[in-house]
Amino acid sequence: MNGHFVISLDYEIHWGVFDKKTVDEYKVNLENVGKVIDRLLEMSDKYGVKLTFSTVGFLFAENKTELLKQLPEDKPTYLIENFSPYPLLDAIGENEDEDPFHYALSGIKQIKNNGNHEIGTHTFCHFYCHEHGQTVEQFDADIEAAVRIAKPLDIAIESIVFPRNMIDANKAIDQPYLDVCYKHGIKSFRGKEKAYIYNIHTTKFYHGWYLFKILRLLDTYINVTGSNTYKVEELNRNNKVYNLPSSRLMRAYSSKLKFLEPLKVRRIKKAMTHAAKHNEMFHLWWHPHNFGAQMDENFKNLEAIFKTYKKLNESYGFQSETMTGLSNKIKLSYQK
Ligand SMILES: [Zn+2]
Repeated sequence: MNGHFVISLDYEIHWGVFDKKTVDEYKVNLENVGKVIDRLLEMSDKYGVKLTFSTVGFLFAENKTELLKQLPEDKPTYLIENFSPYPLLDAIGENEDEDPFHYALSGIKQIKNNGNHEIGTHTFCHFYCHEHGQTVEQFDADIEAAVRIAKPLDIAIESIVFPRNMIDANKAIDQPYLDVCYKHGIKSFRGKEKAYIYNIHTTKFYHGWYLFKILRLLDTYINVTGSNTYKVEELNRNNKVYNLPSSRLMRAYSSKLKFLEPLKVRRIKKAMTHAAKHNEMFHLWWHPHNFGAQMDENFKNLEAIFKTYKKLNESYGFQSETMTGLSNKIKLSYQK
C-alpha cells in the first residue's frame, strides 16, 4: 500500500466543549463553524482532499422534538454530573435557526451532498469512555442512537472518534468499547499517537502532567516525538476495528506565538513527506471550531499543507482517504 493522508474533524460545535465553556465564552469560534465547513469543503474540492467529519449525534436532529425522541433510555451516569450534556437539553433552542450552537442538520446535509467525504460518529452525546460512573452498556445505547439518527439521511456510520480521545487501543479494559463499535458496524477509530507523551491515560493524574503539556506544545513546532506516522496494514492485522492513530493535532493559529506558525506548518509537512516516502499513514485532526477565530490565518496554513499533499500525491502516489476508505483498503490488503 502507498502512503495515505487522513484528516478527521471532530464536528461538535458546543457539544464538544459544553463542560468547559458556555456558548458566550467561546462564541466567535462556535458561531463561525458553519463558515468553516463551507471553506473546508471548498478547499478540499480544490486540492482533491477527502475529510472525515466525526459528528456528534445530537447535531443530526432537525428540532428538539426529534432530538428528545432519539435519546437513549440508558444515559451515562458519570460520578461528576457536569460531564453529562443531557441536563443542558432543557435550555437549548427549538431548532438550528434558533440555536445554531446545538443543531447542524444543514451542515451535515451539505457535507453529504458534496459526495467526497465521510460522516462518522463522535458518539451520540459526546460520551466519555474513561470517566467514572459510565458503563459499557450506556456506551452501547449511545452508539445505537448515533447510528439510528443518521439512518434517515442515508448515512451509514462506519468510523468513530472517541471524545477527548478516551480510548486506549491496547488495554484490555477498553476492548468492550471497541466490541460495541464492531457490533454497530464501525470499522475504524482514531487512536492516540504512538509517542509516550500523548499516549497516557486521559483521566488519571500524573506527576509530570504539566511537563507532558509543555512537551506537547514544543512538539507542535520542533521535532520532539518524530513523525508519528504508521504502517496501518501491519498495525491492524489482528484487530476487528482498525486503529488509525493520530499523527498530529492541528492547533489553531496563535497570535501570541505567530512567529512560530511557519514552524508548525513545516513540522506537519515534514511528517507528511516522511509518510509519503515510507508508504505510511499521516493522520491530522482538529475541531472545526478551532478555525472559527482567525479563519483566514488558519486556512492559509491549511492551504500550505494541501499544496504539499498535492506534490506528494504526484511524486509518491500519496493518497487522501477517509477513515472508512482507508479501512476498506487495509481489509483488501489482507485478502491478497
Ligand atoms: Zn469532541
